[in-house]
Amino acid sequence: MAEQEIIYLDNNATTPLDPAVIEEMLPFLTKYYGNPSSGYAFAARARKAVDLARERLAALLGCAPSEIVFTSGGTESNNAVIRSALAYSAVAAAKAGQFEPRGKHVVTSAVEHSAVLHPCQDLEKCDCAVTFLRVDRDGTVDLAELEAALRPETALVSIMWANNETGVLFPVEKIAEICRRKGVLFHTDAVQAVGKIPIRLRETAINFLSLSAHKFHGPKGVGALYVNGRTRFNSLIAGGGQENGHRGGTENVASIAGLGKAAELALRYVAEGKENVRSMRDRFEKAILKSVSGASVNGAGALRIPNTSSLSFEGIESSNALLLLDRHGICCSAGSACRTGSHEASHVLHAMNPNGDGARRSLRFSFGRFNTEAEIDRAIEIVPKVIEKLRATTVRGAVAAAAT
Ligand SMILES: *Cc1c(COP(=O)(O)O)cnc(C)c1O
Repeated sequence: MAEQEIIYLDNNATTPLDPAVIEEMLPFLTKYYGNPSSGYAFAARARKAVDLARERLAALLGCAPSEIVFTSGGTESNNAVIRSALAYSAVAAAKAGQFEPRGKHVVTSAVEHSAVLHPCQDLEKCDCAVTFLRVDRDGTVDLAELEAALRPETALVSIMWANNETGVLFPVEKIAEICRRKGVLFHTDAVQAVGKIPIRLRETAINFLSLSAHKFHGPKGVGALYVNGRTRFNSLIAGGGQENGHRGGTENVASIAGLGKAAELALRYVAEGKENVRSMRDRFEKAILKSVSGASVNGAGALRIPNTSSLSFEGIESSNALLLLDRHGICCSAGSACRTGSHEASHVLHAMNPNGDGARRSLRFSFGRFNTEAEIDRAIEIVPKVIEKLRATTVRGAVAAAAT
């Protein structure tokens, strides 16, 4: 059976590889298989590829190449920072001869990705207090509330740069300044921001930043952690001293080379001020709001990354909508990809409106530079029909139930 043409509107879950990224990776999967740590000239090809990737990523982030640690992805980067901040503050406290348990508190938000939420929940089981800041209707945190949550024993504040479900941007530069003033380390999960908005880490007080290649047209299973040059860091994975002792294990050379190429392409896209992803998102959003009654944008009052549209529809159940859209070849999601299959509603949308049922009625459409205007046209045609059909079945179901 021929595969149905799909319209991929789930770029926050993962993105297609850019063909130029595949080109960049191939020689390291075939010819140049040397271990970057080996001493002979043949292995230098691999080592140079890793160095080049580090420079390209540093250019995208506006930081020094020496501040980058390659990891297996966003999840590992987040876990490494959370573990490191606690381990380091415990060591610092011991050295200072303090008996008070310093570094026994972490501040984060209620809307983080599970790759921050779950490690933080694990900390709570290990005698560490965690403050999960609430968010307002638009999905953002209150800076005064954040500042008030800081304690003398706070080891780390971790707030995402952009939310994966709603695209809402957090004022991380301001939060980093508050943390610096209070002498607390600040980490941001920037997996959804990197490659979508300009980032100049050199001009910020951010200590740590996590990113993942597969969210910006690079390969899966590779990412990076930015560690500010003046910030202490304890590696999560101890081993052969790779990555300047910050992350043990033989480098995933081909994937790192792919990440570097993806970073170079993303920088070009962002620096040239290209707006086609934003314009496709805006055109889609406006058209849906116009043609479907009872539809609204989650996080409408906040600043958002240019590629995400999280929409809430009255009178539907997101899981049913996903099934019907899938039959039309439209790939999108309800909340995050990680939750598909679990019948839990989105913790993000619930935090934004604890008393509403928007979490069960929302769909996330996320766009990328490989989407076409023709695909947007198709989506604008199909989505309203699907919503209408779902509402009609719900009404029929209710009428049938009332008749029995
Ligand atoms: C996808 C994602 C992650 C996880 O990254 P992986 O590389 O898939 O481990 C973490 N945080 C956010 C915000 C994400 O969107």
